[in-house]
Amino acid sequence: MSFTDLGLSAPIQKAIAEKGYDTPSPIQAQAIPAVLEGRDVMAAAQTGTGKTAGFTLPILELLSKGDKVRANQARTLIITPTRELAAQIAENVEMYGKHLDLKSTVVFGGVKINPQMQRLRQGVDILVATPGRLLDLYNQNAVRFNQLEVLVLDEADRMLDMGFLRDIKKILSLLPKKRQTLLFSATFSPDIRELAKGIVNNPVEISISPKTTTAESVEQLIYSVDKNQKAPLLTHLIKTNDWQQVIVFMKTKHGANKLTKQLDAAGIKAAAIHGNKSQGARTKALAQFKEGNISVLVATDIAARGIDIDQLPQVVNFELPNVPEDYVHRIGRTGRAGSTGHAVSLVCADEIDLLNDIEHVIQTHLPREVVAGFEPVHALPESRKLRPLKAKRPKKAKVEHKDGQRSGDNARGHKPPSKNKRHTGNSTSSNPYGNSEGNNSSRRRIKPAANK
Ligand code: AMP
Repeated sequence: MSFTDLGLSAPIQKAIAEKGYDTPSPIQAQAIPAVLEGRDVMAAAQTGTGKTAGFTLPILELLSKGDKVRANQARTLIITPTRELAAQIAENVEMYGKHLDLKSTVVFGGVKINPQMQRLRQGVDILVATPGRLLDLYNQNAVRFNQLEVLVLDEADRMLDMGFLRDIKKILSLLPKKRQTLLFSATFSPDIRELAKGIVNNPVEISISPKTTTAESVEQLIYSVDKNQKAPLLTHLIKTNDWQQVIVFMKTKHGANKLTKQLDAAGIKAAAIHGNKSQGARTKALAQFKEGNISVLVATDIAARGIDIDQLPQVVNFELPNVPEDYVHRIGRTGRAGSTGHAVSLVCADEIDLLNDIEHVIQTHLPREVVAGFEPVHALPESRKLRPLKAKRPKKAKVEHKDGQRSGDNARGHKPPSKNKRHTGNSTSSNPYGNSEGNNSSRRRIKPAANK
């Protein structure tokens, strides 16, 4: 199948050709015709599968045919959990729509709200937003949804993990019932199915197995090493393999800063990207990385979510994540859209439980190696025998605590809902990191995260 078979008009095909894509990815081949037919879609697909173009291209096609947008209205709303992902999607919208006469903008917290209000004044065909800032803008009459035609909920599973359920329900209550809805999530967990009820109507269900994007196109390897030798080993690997573009995953912001300094001291250009960095610093680091001015991006899981870098060749897990599914997300940064990637994990003896959990989730024992000169004093114990995966029991709905607050409310500075008013101070300004990096996956966490 080629893009010309999918019913997209010439201006969109031109933008695709300029981007250099020739074949639609599986999610695109399935989602594009369904969206063009006006169907609702529920798609299980991770970042790296080409899902952004999967929903953006047909939406652009639909919007190019409809009515002109009125002041302060949005014809399409794309809601996504993190600033990086929002910015990334907005970039894609701009790029794929560059030969069309459509307006788009992106709004998220952590930056001034006034310029966003100004951009919304004339109305936009596509609005990409994180939930909290979108509600702030709505509360300040900057955006209205009477003309809304399409809603996209992207990374829905992550939005629930980050405690956005109530914001999402509130947003849904503001939208017209008659609309097209596309729901994207890494998995269709019971929570997601519950959310989907009443949101999507007779949806086309699409499932792109994460296994095909990880196991088949990413070579995974473990280097067994002592904890205090990880930084020297990483430096050695980067230098001897001449890695030009590598993303290194850390569990904590503190760890990310420390490692960045160590790499810099070893003459390797690195930048940290995490929730304590200002939006400007993060955007700059990402841009420098993409341009090749820095070769190592040291990232925490949440900050890295949504980073879209074409065919990133190398991913390093400096520390294994507490949540095994994050391992799958991390290595999804590499081997994208058909190219082979490499994911190496530096694992020390006391990470064996985390390794066992990951190997259980991916149902594979990862190959191990030791690098000469970095032989561990504390040997990494044998992995546990693989047990078959059990179907997960439905999780209890995490909606409200007894005191009327939901998880993360304190961290984000919300007032309890009993006050019946949304707090619109700075801290609500949808800083998805405000509650996320300390709180995001409390339900799935195997061990409490140390050192946050
Ligand atoms: P996404 O899953 O939307 O984050 O996209 C993953 C990566 O694949 C992005 O870098 C896209 O630019 C790239 N991509 C998307 N669609 C295609 C395609 N049909 N052919 C080649 N690369 C693609």
